[in-house]
Amino acid sequence: MNAGINRRRFLGQAAGVAAGAAAAPVLSAGPASAGGRGPADLIVYNGRVQVMDRHMRRAEAVAIRDGVVMAVGRERDVRRLAGRGTESIDAGGGTVLPGINDSHVHLGGYGLDFPPYTIEVDVATIKELTDAVAAAVAAAPAPGSWIRGQGWNENRLPHPPRRTDLDPVSGDHPVILRDFSGHMMAVNSTVLRLAGITRDTPAPPGGVIEKDAAGEPTGVLRESAQDLVNRVVPPFTEAELESAVDKAIMMLHAQGITSITDPGIPLAQLALYERKARAGTLPLRITALITGGRSPDQVRTTLAAYKPPRGVDPRILRVAGVKLIIDGVPTAAQTAWLHEPYVDGTNGKPVIEGDTIEEAVANMHAMIALVHNAGMQVGTHATGDAGIDVVVAGYLAAMRGDRRHRDPRHYVIHGDLTSPRTLRTMARHDIGVNMNATIKYVLGRTLDANLGPERTDYQWPYRTALDLGVRVTSASDAPVTSPSWLQGVQSAVLRKGLYGGVAGEAERITVREALVTYTRTSAWQDHAERWKGTLEPGMTGDVCVVDGDVVGADPETLVGMPIAATILGGRVVYDGKPDPATANAMAPAAVKSRNARGAACLQRGACCCKRA
Ligand SMILES: [Zn+2]
Ligand SMILES: [Zn+2]
Ligand SMILES: [Zn+2]
Repeated sequence: MNAGINRRRFLGQAAGVAAGAAAAPVLSAGPASAGGRGPADLIVYNGRVQVMDRHMRRAEAVAIRDGVVMAVGRERDVRRLAGRGTESIDAGGGTVLPGINDSHVHLGGYGLDFPPYTIEVDVATIKELTDAVAAAVAAAPAPGSWIRGQGWNENRLPHPPRRTDLDPVSGDHPVILRDFSGHMMAVNSTVLRLAGITRDTPAPPGGVIEKDAAGEPTGVLRESAQDLVNRVVPPFTEAELESAVDKAIMMLHAQGITSITDPGIPLAQLALYERKARAGTLPLRITALITGGRSPDQVRTTLAAYKPPRGVDPRILRVAGVKLIIDGVPTAAQTAWLHEPYVDGTNGKPVIEGDTIEEAVANMHAMIALVHNAGMQVGTHATGDAGIDVVVAGYLAAMRGDRRHRDPRHYVIHGDLTSPRTLRTMARHDIGVNMNATIKYVLGRTLDANLGPERTDYQWPYRTALDLGVRVTSASDAPVTSPSWLQGVQSAVLRKGLYGGVAGEAERITVREALVTYTRTSAWQDHAERWKGTLEPGMTGDVCVVDGDVVGADPETLVGMPIAATILGGRVVYDGKPDPATANAMAPAAVKSRNARGAACLQRGACCCKRA
């Protein structure tokens, strides 16, 4: 763990703003673009500053005033902008970047995936598991409240947890513990009673209600039998969602992240963000895509019910458009829609309403046009080449159909198997692609059995896309993978998988190229490249300081580099010392469990976007 950054004030430093103006730093802003006059509020010095501008300039220090970068350049020049009361951060020779923009994060789902909302039970003994449940019961907010947990693995435990293990520690609380793969769950007797599961309950098709020697349910439910319980689990309350969002934001700060896109949120969640933005309790820049649905009627209903946020800072909360979805994932689930079949001869299919493929395609195009014509951006989950081609054709048709909506920047979410031909079309029409280097790391070569080696190598063609001039962004899809952009950069550069092997040497990109996908191009996707995504003077003062040489070091070491500081609009929101409330969740063991769960969830075809 990192000891935290060295912060102090330039007390008694004589240099004033006049001296600074006399010896202008390499890149200094004119008064118009850099806000008011006076000394810097904050200076980050002794850094390897990557400005991330078009020229990929490097510098040593950054000065921020009134939340905006006032100068970036040589240290001795930037230091002249200090006055009494200027705060300074010694980057210790580490890397200084624009605040990271993780451009596809399910913020609520990520926060709710952690204790106390969901406890982690990836343990080796039943005793450890029941201890964790007992602790959650002791800390429960109300009598009879649900205890939810996840992560147990029947191959790690002597046997799946049974109601006879759980009942003695659960008091009057319903307890539901999902395994890491999503294929089964363990519940206590209270849950069995609430779900009406008895010795006489027949298992639904494709499901198993495990019974003991006496014929009584043990509390272990497999596959579709889990639905009997899912029906009675209450949704999280708004208060729980809000505090989970707060916690998620702290965890993102601890990763150097200052901007996200939250894709596919219901209007009720947007209302929560609005309220928090107005109250000043949303310390993160959120670009939202609201949930569109699976048919033109659903999109119409969504658009009719949607009201743009009022009275909020659009640099904190902005609704960019609507999230759509056309297919699943190209894993063992084989739900991505492909031109050439999977190894077993199937092709996958669209998940859009329609009795035939033609009808589904027509509906998809109608849905895209509805959003485009409303002047909004479309981001569509599409992973198979057939699905991607339909989406891109839909974007082109909508753009030709209504030219009043200029520069819409519609994009493909994931875009795993986008063909070179379609990438060329996307480059020509400024259609972006939002890729997932951290998911590439988690899946690695595991798709060989379904896609064959060639397509497994090609999956997420970063190199091909960049060479063809496509705007490529990167995102974690948290909670599917841990929002570690350093892991993402490492994966984009090395293409090494969590479970071994290299998948696609030909699609490797450089560290600098990968950094662009997490900063400048993500800002473009947000229609925000004029004010964020680089450290040029006049840009917002969002900064990520890494304790290490991100560009120069062996890429194998990237994931281990600590985040030393995160600055949002000139305010330090993370100082390298993890909050006790989030430290456990960020620990390597927890990250490992999360990635294993993410891999299993993807193989099952139950990734977060399926719900959008
Ligand atoms: Zn998705
Ligand atoms: Zn997603
Ligand atoms: Zn997803």
